[in-house]
Amino acid sequence: MNQNEVMLNVKNLKKYYPIHAGLLRRVVGYVRAVDGIDLFIRQGETVGLVGESGCGKTTVGRTIARLLDPTEGQIEYTPKDGSTVDLAAMGKEELTRIRGEIQLIFQDPFASLNPRMSVGAIVAEPLRIKGIGTRKERLERAGQLLEKVGLSASYMNRFPHEFSGGQRQRIGIARALSSSPQLVICDEPVSALDVSVQAQVLNLLLDLQQEFGLTYLFIAHDLSVVEYISDRVMVMYLGKIVESALCKDLYHSPKHPYTEALLQAIPIADPLLGKRRKALAGSVPDAASPPSGCNFHPRCAYAVEQCKFDTPSLREIEPMHFVACHLAEELKLSGFGARGSGCGSAGTMGWG
Ligand code: SF4
Repeated sequence: MNQNEVMLNVKNLKKYYPIHAGLLRRVVGYVRAVDGIDLFIRQGETVGLVGESGCGKTTVGRTIARLLDPTEGQIEYTPKDGSTVDLAAMGKEELTRIRGEIQLIFQDPFASLNPRMSVGAIVAEPLRIKGIGTRKERLERAGQLLEKVGLSASYMNRFPHEFSGGQRQRIGIARALSSSPQLVICDEPVSALDVSVQAQVLNLLLDLQQEFGLTYLFIAHDLSVVEYISDRVMVMYLGKIVESALCKDLYHSPKHPYTEALLQAIPIADPLLGKRRKALAGSVPDAASPPSGCNFHPRCAYAVEQCKFDTPSLREIEPMHFVACHLAEELKLSGFGARGSGCGSAGTMGWG
């Protein structure tokens, strides 16, 4: 597959959870965790998916990886053999063939590593499950991968509890790489780590992307982390994409009030600027009973009467800049330009 070709094309993806009530446990409604999103990722690209807790971004990642079954929609994926498959329509056996190509890195590196398995066995596990190589060959590969993620191969016989949080995340990354994936879904991979360690792990992910030609879907609530690593960013609110743009456009010139609010919430070191920053009021509403019209209207500082009953659709208002807001062309929203946007240029966030 060539660089820039679309590897993943998600169309109208929905993931609803039924709400049961009464003695007969009848279905009385649905939690619309993911409510009809479209998303594409090109080969070698990093797409950031951001939003507050409860907006549905983790469910998107897990549904694409088919850890969860979608309620509706297509997940078109181009495997290494160059064909096109719909992951949403695949059965368990077919998925086994593809699974090694799509790997996840999880938020909590301790919870995601089996405490009773040695590090070597953890990293070699995906190969063992697929029956690849002899035990000796798998452990050799595990040792090489540990070195690739900045750990010593001599750690093979140690156990997860003997490592720091950052080291455990490196082990999780080595495990994800062992089946030679092409798409890696990183679900809040650094949010449990200290800031200094976050930078190291992000730089490692960037290095590995270069070396192995990886494609990332990078899910996070922290916009400064996403800015550091992403080419394009999609903003999610209550199960829907509300804004999508190239990273620099989204950070310098947001067009959706929710994106502006998220950018305003990024902590900055300057105490004077810090005083002027606005916090976003309230929290993400219940996805079982979303607000009418624009879902964001109860929290939006710019809402007009139309927003209460008319649902805005996602539309392209500038090349590659999509927004779901009735006032997208009129509002002059504040971006993040005053501090300088990184967008993949490591160092501008004070980490590099
Ligand atoms: Fe705010 Fe209205 Fe735009 Fe929704 S459509 S984000 S409520 S201005």
